Amino acid sequence: MCLTIPAKVVSVENSCAGLPVKRITIRDSKGEKTINALPADIRAGDWVLYASDMAVEKISEDDAREILELLEPKRYIDISRLDSAFLEILKACHTRELRREEIIRLLCIGDDAETNALLSEANTIRQARLRDFFCIHGIIEFSNHCVRNCLYCGLRRDSKDIRRYRMAPDEIVNSVYDAVNRRGYKLIVLQSGDDFFYTDDMLCGIIRKIKEKCRVFIFMSVGERSRASYEKMKDAGANGVLFRFETSNKALYSSIHPGQSHDERIALLREMKKMGYFIATGFLIGLPGQTVEDIADDIITTKSIGANMVSVGPFIPSDITPLALHPAGSAAMTLKVTAVSRLLMPKAKIPVTTALETIENEEGRRLGLSSGANSLMFNLTPEKYRDDYRIYPNKYHGKEEFWEKYGLYKEEISYKMLERKMFEAFESFEV
Ligand code: SF4
Repeated sequence: MCLTIPAKVVSVENSCAGLPVKRITIRDSKGEKTINALPADIRAGDWVLYASDMAVEKISEDDAREILELLEPKRYIDISRLDSAFLEILKACHTRELRREEIIRLLCIGDDAETNALLSEANTIRQARLRDFFCIHGIIEFSNHCVRNCLYCGLRRDSKDIRRYRMAPDEIVNSVYDAVNRRGYKLIVLQSGDDFFYTDDMLCGIIRKIKEKCRVFIFMSVGERSRASYEKMKDAGANGVLFRFETSNKALYSSIHPGQSHDERIALLREMKKMGYFIATGFLIGLPGQTVEDIADDIITTKSIGANMVSVGPFIPSDITPLALHPAGSAAMTLKVTAVSRLLMPKAKIPVTTALETIENEEGRRLGLSSGANSLMFNLTPEKYRDDYRIYPNKYHGKEEFWEKYGLYKEEISYKMLERKMFEAFESFEV
């Protein structure tokens, strides 16, 4: 669903008889513009929620200010403390690709003034390129079985202390149906460990049933499967994949993913891109031995793959894994990476990941959305399974209803808007 944004109504044009919508002029932090409005009783001075070019509902001024506070925090930037080389980099990102050493320079910022300037620049680019197009997407974790043994993950094959579950195909379809048709979600990620209990036929059957029942984008996050499997899922109606490469450093990748090949993972991502999938990919921040140069390469790799959605989260240690004692990745670095990703990929979808929310709680959402991110991903896994999907402990889960309340734009037109934006993002990263 689209997250709607508050604005004050400046004037209302008299609607022509027979037209279902009115034309209104609104004012928000970026100035005035004229858009369509659905509420019939709208007047100058009212506050409305709008998405793209449509005001969808009137709200109280108090509610409007509460949302604006969340989306547009005030950052104090002391320009006198910014050096000219830093400002040159921020300027350069509008006209050319940033170089690796420039990305490293941005990631190494430790100073508050520069950090605020970077995050604000990313926020400005997000506003300029995507306007206020925020989305709330859903994720359903349908199985926590996994044949792999990644060192950082609580679902790894050797984890004995978790209760394993698998949702039945009809249960998965019904969960998606509820999320889409009752709650208004338009994009759902179906996620599991690398669990081959679900055959290609089963997954394709699930996708087809969902597509028969709902207007929804389906992203598959089911791990490393054959190219043929991904082709079948695409033919069945899957739109995208969420498939991270985790790190671009091959030695680091091998050390934490026993038995897996970095080259094959990247090759599979490139194949998926050619198949026409929307690509959601990214990496972890704070892996053992990871350097800032690695992170710069991770961002460059994400872009080179043609990611339409950038998924970046801090590593969080799980007490039942070999990396239990390794410190968590930093929220500050995650925000810088979010911002630099926005500088390099202005039209990409960048969600605030649950891992950032887990480290920063509700503040993580606000900080992420004001640092270049433009979507949220809510966990819609049925309650009875949710705690068992323990990649790491104490996953943040909260205030979804508050956000859903403002994700009011649930109609067919919301699907169309998402489709248009996804297509634009897809086209801008054709490889
Ligand atoms: S990270 Fe993914 S592939 Fe690795 S163990 Fe966890 S669920 Fe399995």
